[in-house]
Amino acid sequence: RHGILFLFLLLSPGLARAFQPTQVDKKVDSLLSLMTLEEKVGQMNQYNGFWEVTGPAPKDGDAAKKYNHLRKGLVGSMLNVTGTENVRAVQKIAVEETRLGIPLLIGYDVIHGFKTLSPVPLAEAASWDLEAIRKSAEVAALEASAAGINWTFAPMVDISRDARWGRVMEGAGEDPYLGSQIAFARVKGFQGSDLTLPHTILATAKHFAGYGFSESGRDYNTVDVGTTTLYNDILPPFQAALEADVKTFMNSFNILNGIPATGNSFLQREILKGKWDFDGLMVSDWGSIGEMVAHGFAADGKHAAQLALNAGSDMDMESALYVEHLVALVKEGKVKESDVNDAVRRILKLKFVLGLFEDPYRYCDPTREAEITGSKAIREAVLDMAQKSIVLLKNENSLLPLPKSGKKIALIGKLATDKDSPLGSWRAMVAPNSAVSVLEGLQALGTHSIKVAQGPVIFEGSANFATEVKVNVTDKSGMEEAILAAKGAEVVVMVLGEHGFQSGEARSRTDLGLPGLQQELLEKVYAVNPNIVLVLMNGRPLTLEWADKHIPAIVEAWQLGSESGTAIARVLYGDYNPSGRLPMTFPRNVGQLPLYYNYKPTGRPNDPGQNLVFWSHYMDSPNSPLYPFGYGLSYTTFTYSNLQISQPTLQKGGSIEVQVVLKNTGKRTGKETVQLYIQDPVASISRPVRELKSFQQVELKSGESKTVTITLTEKDLGFFSPEGAWVVEPGLFKVFVGGDSGASMKVEFQYE
Ligand code: BGC
Repeated sequence: RHGILFLFLLLSPGLARAFQPTQVDKKVDSLLSLMTLEEKVGQMNQYNGFWEVTGPAPKDGDAAKKYNHLRKGLVGSMLNVTGTENVRAVQKIAVEETRLGIPLLIGYDVIHGFKTLSPVPLAEAASWDLEAIRKSAEVAALEASAAGINWTFAPMVDISRDARWGRVMEGAGEDPYLGSQIAFARVKGFQGSDLTLPHTILATAKHFAGYGFSESGRDYNTVDVGTTTLYNDILPPFQAALEADVKTFMNSFNILNGIPATGNSFLQREILKGKWDFDGLMVSDWGSIGEMVAHGFAADGKHAAQLALNAGSDMDMESALYVEHLVALVKEGKVKESDVNDAVRRILKLKFVLGLFEDPYRYCDPTREAEITGSKAIREAVLDMAQKSIVLLKNENSLLPLPKSGKKIALIGKLATDKDSPLGSWRAMVAPNSAVSVLEGLQALGTHSIKVAQGPVIFEGSANFATEVKVNVTDKSGMEEAILAAKGAEVVVMVLGEHGFQSGEARSRTDLGLPGLQQELLEKVYAVNPNIVLVLMNGRPLTLEWADKHIPAIVEAWQLGSESGTAIARVLYGDYNPSGRLPMTFPRNVGQLPLYYNYKPTGRPNDPGQNLVFWSHYMDSPNSPLYPFGYGLSYTTFTYSNLQISQPTLQKGGSIEVQVVLKNTGKRTGKETVQLYIQDPVASISRPVRELKSFQQVELKSGESKTVTITLTEKDLGFFSPEGAWVVEPGLFKVFVGGDSGASMKVEFQYE
């Protein structure tokens, strides 16, 4: 048999090349052959920055132990060491003091920028602008790499349908299709086309898998999902990241169907490294190997190390359990040395790919750091991203856009002058209070008489990544002043929402209303002056039923990063015509959660009919969301007409064209996001009522129209069976086209 294979390879040079080890593989193998078991295990160990790098060496305690590990070559990577000087210092130890001089991977959570911030990822997703999103990741990589970073723990590609979960701010929302497109764009942005260039960095698809489906939206909580949901909703964005050639994955804190993700061989070995043939690196989440003891899955740290490696986790972030136990576990035959070798190969390969062996200091050029950090080009990119992320939710009587001068404006709310909350979570490198505030933005771009009134205190003390936000619900001082300001104004701009650290990791909430006394403030101001523009600043969908009913203009501005106030002012003044669309359903109330557009049909009618009690509903709330997925307005209006399909059947292997005429019927140039959804009404497993399969952003001048063409192939029709097999079933398909997930124009075709 081998003889035949050899002959085959000889005759087919292309295939033969595919079977041959690459130059990098050869280098990896030759280095591996020089390493002791201890040194190999050392490469699998990642530590958080544990001492003031440019200060004196740590003398005692945990830091001293870690420092010794570093000097002995028992550390393969560090995270949270930043700045060219600091990174150079740790690389120097790795390269000059250890026996083999293997350089370190330097990781950091570059989530939405490094020192200059883009909007939080959920906000970026609201742009539906894949090129802007790619660019945002590209400039984030540029700035981070200039500070010594060569690996980001981003993008987070977890799909989530539950706004109670604080980490929705870090993802791309609820939809696997949009999430996949964005995952792809972000990976391309971070990694670029050539990782040997010093302005590109390794990306990480995280958290593998299921983290966004934590029960009741409580962070770190158990995840129980069927394989249909796993394959069709959770895994696709990870696959898209892989298609973009993402080099690393991170596993997850949660249990998935009884087994912690970190010790989950089905996820990591069977699917990721098996079926998907991923040859990159799987890093654990922070301490997640150790957490398997608390999960009741591992007896102790040593057992946890054994389970994690056997399940395919290559690198241990901050548990220190690999470095402590793997050597003994190999000797005892509880883990295979070949699995250690495989993990180390994956790690070393990336170090070669990045060119660290040629120049371990390639990311450590202080001149470059000074030139790039906060550069004009980066500020422009994050501003562009910020304005594209804003979603106009309501605009009655064309209250917006506002003129640029001549109005008496009352600017109300603590967040109106806040220069910190717009930065959102995940931004440790950024100077606090460094965002452009709404007040600053409005003043810089217009010449109104603006009366500022902050309203009541909302948050007590100062919160940051490590301290929780405390909401004040008793101190009403400031209320009267705000009401007075509103009384004397022509237009009231109210900036309300969440504290910058009220969403993010470990920031789950059960009440998604406006925190503190903000709702009361809104209602009191409305009572004296209803001419309100409500600007929302938040990291997740909020429940806004009252505001939607009463307030004439509502602008979803999320947490937009460094250029927040400028982007908001540009939208309020009409310099930028809002084009964002919701990447997540906005529920009416928390009781509806999880709520998402691509739900499965129930066996019951969708409306009560005549005197019908037994339909799937709540007695005290409609089923419908307040604002559906894909929703967003513009200062102009669009109409859709003449929806057509190129032929009545789509043949296997063929394609079909859907066309619609889009017209700008308003007075301004604007951008519409044309969305196409399909439904497979009869299938071997019940399919969602609709699923996004394509979208196009089209800019049209006033009065202009355009025929938009979208091509569908069988790839858009298939789904994963509960066993994980990709299937496309013949039959009828419905196509819906429009400006949001409620699109009602419909055509049908048969797939044969
Ligand atoms: C988070 C990860 C992050 C890691 C390192 C963990 O708490 O879940 O997403 O990359 O910390 O900061």
